[in-house]
Amino acid sequence: MKFPKLRELKEALTAVFSKRYTSRFPFEESPAPEGFRGKPFPDDEWCMGCEACCEACPSEAIIIEDNIKESKRIITRYWDRCNYCGQCEEKCPQEQPGVKLSREYDISGYSPDEMNIKQEFELIVCSKCSSFLGTLKQLQTASGRMGPALSSSSPDMLLARQLQTTRPMPGKAKRKEITRSDIFTFLCPVCRHEVYRKEAGN
Ligand code: SF4
Ligand code: SF4
Repeated sequence: MKFPKLRELKEALTAVFSKRYTSRFPFEESPAPEGFRGKPFPDDEWCMGCEACCEACPSEAIIIEDNIKESKRIITRYWDRCNYCGQCEEKCPQEQPGVKLSREYDISGYSPDEMNIKQEFELIVCSKCSSFLGTLKQLQTASGRMGPALSSSSPDMLLARQLQTTRPMPGKAKRKEITRSDIFTFLCPVCRHEVYRKEAGN
């Protein structure tokens, strides 16, 4: 019985005086290796609030709330629901992903608000029926990709391009009757069809 005890004591002393095998996290930073998939962060330069990442997310970690009255879209990405699969980054339709997985893995905090990140986008709403057409940045991105010639064929794209430099937003107020002037306001495809039909006298 004596010898095993001595052996354990020797092992304990060796462990105390030898180099630490574990890191001192959270007292010291412990960087994740290259290629590690950690907390996803949106890139506001590229993200246009289109919703594709939300549809691709298998964990319902991306929640979209549309406030039609205030023409606002809020996107919340919950890190405590995320499984770090990278689908949001992979399925983003932008040239550069609008969301990127970082090497951050620490999701501890003092309140649930620290476990998510929010973005706000301006929504474009039909001036007649109040259905939404997408975010302003979405329309502007599509218009930029189509180029001035093609995008000029769509009044909505034209207006979205204009809004990069001009304010206030035209056609925001809901109207009862559609008139010729409504051609140059934001309209959903159904209401726009109605304007053209009236114009043609049908
Ligand atoms: S991250 Fe990409 S897919 Fe998600 S809302 Fe932004 S632009 Fe759309
Ligand atoms: S990494 Fe996966 S689980 Fe996390 S937000 Fe992106 S798609 Fe959802």
